[in-house]
Amino acid sequence: MHFSKRGDSVLPSGSKESESIRVLLVEADPVYSRELRSLIEEGSSGQCEVYETTGVEPALTLLLEQKFDVLLLDLSLPDSEGLDTLSRAKGATASVPVVALTNDENEEQAVDVLRLGAQEHLLKSQLDARSLARNLRHAVERHQLISQLRDSRVREHYLATHDALTNLPNRFHFQNQLTRSIAYANRHDRQLAVLFLDLDGFKTINDTLGHANGDALLAEVAARLARVVRRSDMVARLGGDEFVVMIQDVTDDRAAERAAETVLDALARAYQLAGQDYWLTTSIGIAMFPRDGEDAETLLRSADMALYQAKREGRNNVQFYRPAMNAQARQRLSIENRIRTALENEEFRLYYQPKVEILSGRIVGTEALIRWRDPERGIVPPADFIPIAEETGLIVPIGAWALETACAQTKKWQEAGFPSLRVAVNLSPYQVCDRSLRDTVVKALWNSSLAPGSLELEITESALMRNENVAVEVLGELKTIGIRVSLDDFGTGFSSLSYLKRFPVDTVKIDRSFIEDITVDSDDRVIVDAILSIADKLQLISVAEGVETPEQLDLLRVGGCDQVQGYLYSPPVPADHLGDLLGRPQLLTDPEKPDED
Ligand code: C2E
Ligand code: CA
Ligand code: CA
Repeated sequence: MHFSKRGDSVLPSGSKESESIRVLLVEADPVYSRELRSLIEEGSSGQCEVYETTGVEPALTLLLEQKFDVLLLDLSLPDSEGLDTLSRAKGATASVPVVALTNDENEEQAVDVLRLGAQEHLLKSQLDARSLARNLRHAVERHQLISQLRDSRVREHYLATHDALTNLPNRFHFQNQLTRSIAYANRHDRQLAVLFLDLDGFKTINDTLGHANGDALLAEVAARLARVVRRSDMVARLGGDEFVVMIQDVTDDRAAERAAETVLDALARAYQLAGQDYWLTTSIGIAMFPRDGEDAETLLRSADMALYQAKREGRNNVQFYRPAMNAQARQRLSIENRIRTALENEEFRLYYQPKVEILSGRIVGTEALIRWRDPERGIVPPADFIPIAEETGLIVPIGAWALETACAQTKKWQEAGFPSLRVAVNLSPYQVCDRSLRDTVVKALWNSSLAPGSLELEITESALMRNENVAVEVLGELKTIGIRVSLDDFGTGFSSLSYLKRFPVDTVKIDRSFIEDITVDSDDRVIVDAILSIADKLQLISVAEGVETPEQLDLLRVGGCDQVQGYLYSPPVPADHLGDLLGRPQLLTDPEKPDED
């Protein structure tokens, strides 16, 4: 082993392989330095490579250039003295453990030396070869242990605060960070925005392409989000296809909205999945601090409510939180709870509205329309609870009940002398995409002994659009049994004509919105005439909804409409009331006054 030349440049005192400990010895006195080195080498039986230098400055330079395992530092140096020496060394290199050497026994200093981060504190007067080498080795080992411990703690912390799939912060982490940012915004009188995102139609992709592709999609969404936000902002995944973005220092609503639009754009570009391009839209709800909530939990809840509204507005859009949403959400929850028990408690009723054939003036069918007799609120119209029943999945048992009841009731009327009477039952989009629908329908027919041709299912275009392939399949099966299909709210959808071609439809129901102004708005009259002529050419039965006046009826008659339905004849009425109407010879010459409920 060669001693290095004393000075500011050093040479290794030995070329040991990996296991050796590289010691940087910082000692101003050359003679003492040499003595120390021999002690170390002797005590470590050549396990230590010792490098020498004379001051803090040259030591710091060396630490930057080379890797050392431990620093043996005399605190009294020409360019630095005492604790100052240690702080400077530690400040420059936190990753190298330090063993400090001092001249005299000074307890106070000894404590400070350890507090400043030295691993060991040795007195020059008490050094011997073995203890010096052992102390150096221990310093290295202890330092390694601590940093390993810190690494594993860091990893543990990371796992507890991040989402494993996307590597984004998780809900827990986001809430903590949001709480901190709120405190900051509060102190500095700033606003911040929380964007709550949900991918529209993610479930469909997950269901059709499988979970692996679903996961890949989520990871890509996460990456795009991370790319569009500023460093000071934060993106997190709350779970499923729900993400949140926090934007600090937002000047006003417009700025938050712009940020949301940037996010929408970034997520709207094509996704490559299973070798094909897929597109997704996103809905975003925004809540602003301090206006929409003063703590993390309230802000997130407000943003979530705004998101709910965005979804209802037809997806692919941005909504700000409004206080009214809170009351709506509370009401929704209470309705949800009460719908659950309404079925058991037999609180649902079917009302029936006659469909009158214009030529004969007779009732040829009815449409079954559900009512809820809520013990607290009285009769609740379907618009107030069907959407909630759809969201909660309760529409499936409710829809099955409606089918059973309508079929049984219609069979009774047929047996009472109206054998050709048909009944139309409304289906929600959720039911049309549900493969169990066929069994439900068959069971209702079987239980009631109603002929399949007496049952018509009313379906809207949006129900068909939801999942075209499943809808085609499910309706196709029902058609082969002999059940009729009616396209409801015709004309209000997006691509009415193509649906007529693609789906096995028997009837079109012209939406009430066209009938309403048919006598005053020539556009509406043109549209209605066009629909009637298409229906005629395709040999479909045409039904006009919401006919309220004789003038409307006259125009429909001239246009060749087959059947009408509306207050002009009768509002939807309970079953026994409809029984009375059936007994009347000619409804067209004897209109009922609208007096529903
Ligand atoms: P829809 O299928 O378009 O039903 C027609 C709606 O127009 C009914 O409202 C009916 O009462 C109303 N109506 C009928 N004639 C007139 C009229 O001359 N003037 C006016 N202004 N309105 C008229 P309703 O009963 O409140 O039902 C609303 C919607 O709820 C229905 O729209 C249907 O989509 C849904 N719905 C009703 N029953 C069921 C059901 O059993 N299952 C499902 N899934 N949905 C149902
Ligand atoms: Ca209908
Ligand atoms: Ca309708």
